[in-house]
Amino acid sequence: MALSQNDILRALELVKLPASGQSLAASGRIGDILIDGGKVIFAIGIDATEAGAMEPVRKAAESAVSGIPGVTQVLVGLTADKAPGRAPSQAAEARRQAHGQPGPGGPVPKAAGIPGVKQIIAVASGKGGVGKSTTTANLAVGLATLGLKVGVLDADIYGPSVPKIFGITGKPRLVSGRTLAPMEAYGLKIMSIGFLIDEETPMIWRGPMVISAITQMLREVAWGELDVLVVDMPPGTGDAQLTMAQQTPLAGAVIVSTPQDLALLDARRGVAMFKKVEVPILGIVENMSYFICPECGHRSDIFAHGGARHEAERLHVPFLGEIPLAMPIRETSDGGRPIVASDPDSAHAKAYVALARQVKAGLAGPARAAPRIVIE
Ligand code: ADP
Repeated sequence: MALSQNDILRALELVKLPASGQSLAASGRIGDILIDGGKVIFAIGIDATEAGAMEPVRKAAESAVSGIPGVTQVLVGLTADKAPGRAPSQAAEARRQAHGQPGPGGPVPKAAGIPGVKQIIAVASGKGGVGKSTTTANLAVGLATLGLKVGVLDADIYGPSVPKIFGITGKPRLVSGRTLAPMEAYGLKIMSIGFLIDEETPMIWRGPMVISAITQMLREVAWGELDVLVVDMPPGTGDAQLTMAQQTPLAGAVIVSTPQDLALLDARRGVAMFKKVEVPILGIVENMSYFICPECGHRSDIFAHGGARHEAERLHVPFLGEIPLAMPIRETSDGGRPIVASDPDSAHAKAYVALARQVKAGLAGPARAAPRIVIE
């Protein structure tokens, strides 16, 4: 018989909240419950300050639901409906008071690091289609050619393209409990939300539920020892991106922009978003900066190129370089063979490796010591 929301809520009646002893089912904290065959996904609403205290509740909820006959997989996340430091919602404020927790202005919560992963960086863009995923993939391979152990987490829920760029098909396997083994390509460890959701899965997954899925994906993948984990962020600067930036212990962010003004405006919002959550900006990359004719090699500045460099100077963030709009970049990226891996001697590959070198230097430099917001 098909699983129903009531089956799930009945199981959650047995899970009690530590402070009040109230049942989780009756607490009003359970968000929409998504049931897809034997898969059950939902989020528990918390204040960011409660993350540590509520983790045992999350685990208990998972094990209670996994015990229901017919359930094959359970994903339960904790979501803070307002980022710490911003005005709390009425519900969050009521919960805070009920739990006697410190109000806004208290210490900034800290996100735990990922064991074995030395640094995590985000690749972000103010809007879609600017080449964020292509940059992520080539930057990641570039970092690996510099001798680093590198992982890629594709958190772009709106269009997870990392599996395609790396030519990976199939599903990751479970190694133990609910921990997944990452996929591998070109010497990188790779995990994508695209491996876990079918293309037809409706995008009601967006928003807080997705954030919890991503933060779990970050922590429940057997990454092993990595020097750098590169996260391909969803494009844009909305609440979902902000919360994700906040809940991931980021050492820095790379912003990808195209030269057009509109994209730069968006890029500016991207810079502002990371600054708001105190994640150091490693720099801005100008993608599709100029056009190289595949026939004659002639260079044309289709858009007023150089805008990102000026913008970076204006915003006092590093400028990481220009990547041309070039057919081989598109062909290799869309063909599952990132150019840094498939044609490492090409000028385009060298441009990405130069970018990787700057990012590596930025991570070793002052950016590393900069404060960052994290959740414990
Ligand atoms: P985003 O992640 O920002 O949505 P993608 O990386 O998926 O963007 O790129 C969008 C399209 O543009 C893809 O077809 C990709 O191959 C192509 N593309 C990205 N960067 C370049 C580039 N520098 N030159 C040519 N094509 C590019």
